[in-house]
Amino acid sequence: MATFGKGTTRRVAIIGGGLGGLSAAIHLSLKGFEVTVFETNPQVGGRASRLQVDGFTFDTGPSLLNYPWVFKELFQAAGRRMEDYVELLPVDPSIAFFWLNGDHFQLSSNLRHLVQEVERLREGSTPGLMAFLADAAEKYRIAFDKLVCNNSDHLLPWLGSLSWFELLRMRFWRSLDGELGRFFRDRRVRDALGSYGMYLGGSPRQLPGIFSILPYGELALGLWLPRGGIYGLVQAVERLACEMGVHILTSHPVRKILISGGEVSGIELKDGRVESWPIVISNVDVPTTRHQLIEGPANGRRAGRTLAMTPSVLTFYWGTRGKVEGVGHHTIFFPSNPQQAYWELIEQHRIPRELPFYLSIASKTDPGLAPAGGSTIFILVPVPILSRLGERNLDDLCGSLQDQIFHRINNHGIALDKRDIVAQRTLLPTDWAERFGLYDGSAFGAAHTFFQMGPFRYPNRDKAIKGLYYTGASTIPGTGLPMVILSGRMTAERVWGDVC
Ligand SMILES: Cc1cc2nc3c(=O)[nH]c(=O)nc-3n(C[C@H](O)[C@H](O)[C@H](O)COP(=O)(O)OP(=O)(O)OC[C@H]3O[C@@H](n4cnc5c(N)ncnc54)[C@H](O)[C@@H]3O)c2cc1C
Repeated sequence: MATFGKGTTRRVAIIGGGLGGLSAAIHLSLKGFEVTVFETNPQVGGRASRLQVDGFTFDTGPSLLNYPWVFKELFQAAGRRMEDYVELLPVDPSIAFFWLNGDHFQLSSNLRHLVQEVERLREGSTPGLMAFLADAAEKYRIAFDKLVCNNSDHLLPWLGSLSWFELLRMRFWRSLDGELGRFFRDRRVRDALGSYGMYLGGSPRQLPGIFSILPYGELALGLWLPRGGIYGLVQAVERLACEMGVHILTSHPVRKILISGGEVSGIELKDGRVESWPIVISNVDVPTTRHQLIEGPANGRRAGRTLAMTPSVLTFYWGTRGKVEGVGHHTIFFPSNPQQAYWELIEQHRIPRELPFYLSIASKTDPGLAPAGGSTIFILVPVPILSRLGERNLDDLCGSLQDQIFHRINNHGIALDKRDIVAQRTLLPTDWAERFGLYDGSAFGAAHTFFQMGPFRYPNRDKAIKGLYYTGASTIPGTGLPMVILSGRMTAERVWGDVC
């Protein structure tokens, strides 16, 4: 493995000011590195950016914030308190699930409420729920103590810290759906708790059972919205980075990572300027970095093995004049058979015949996001990645999906009319790809199938180019806001481990 000699200049260029890049920047700055972040967009945050339309404030992508301890630790590492930078508002009940036939189910961190909900769906479900919570709590502890933040490139050292008992407990060989089935007989509860799989790029029948820690983490530690939306948290992290001495250059697109003699030598900006840097961390999606940013005619070949990617998304942002009754902050609309929809989307790479989608009304928790009396509505529709979407006219597709969404919402008795919308924007899969450099328009980056986890996932240090590192959703530990904050720390640890 290519490492540095003592005395290597402690200067680092980070390409991309997503949360992964900002976290790496803060941690390296704390170790005395001189860090500059080059961000192509006029604002930092990447997928977690902000759209402001006619007085309505929308988060572009992430809307669900969990594992607040990860963010608190970032501020603590810098000797600060997160509460002094951003306020986190609890969202409870957290997520509601609606099925096509009118069935519904609601998650909550309030155990009494949760018990009532599982019993309402199927009497006698409480012992299963309690056993699930106890089992997932133990998995969660083992995963975060020993696996998630383990910067190991090989399977044996990665798993080596686990006892036999802990290894068996993680249920790597069982599917998430199978694992949920050990505790819940009701299909709807399994569908709801398995729905996190969509963000990981697999159906609950494909993803490993260890991912039962996702619904557990949300139930046990709560679901949150930063005041001002998710972007309120991004601004807090950006402020922390600036206070730590990180130099952030927005509207600075990087065209190439320059390589000389198998080592990084610098970067070339889109305006043609060349800068010399001994260490470069790319926060741009790993496959995009390897296909498009690494210098040389063979850069396409450097992409190496083909990664399985998570689906793309089509997102709608609607500002309405009135309140939207009959629905809470977070709602997932399931088709009659969610397993069929996963199969169509993830295996067949087509838009499911019965559309699953997610709706978020952040102004229910933070009314300041909309003008007085109004609502901010965000809708996310998962669609296949661009190479699988084919030559479809995306504007036509948008219109037809929008019609299906209104039809479905109104069928559940939620009073929302197209005429209520006074401000709107849409991001197509092509917009996601172009604005943020998302490979093939994949929204959440490399999928989390067993062979793309831990030491099998794309590593955060380039195997062949000395001085080149990666951070963010497609490298370790994985996708999601807390994970990319941890990714930044892990990449920083790699760099200072190599340099110091
Ligand atoms: C629609 C959607 C909904 C989501 N919902 C959730 C959720 O509810 N909860 C959750 O936890 N996670 C969610 N996620 C996932 C989460 O947003 C990501 O995992 C996380 O934000 C990725 O951060 P990152 O730092 O890896 O990358 P990014 O945020 O993609 O940052 C990469 C940065 O690099 C910049 N860049 C790209 N190319 C260049 C270049 N050539 N030069 C300079 N800069 C460049 C980009 O502009 C961007 O700022 C969602 C994602 C999407 C898309």
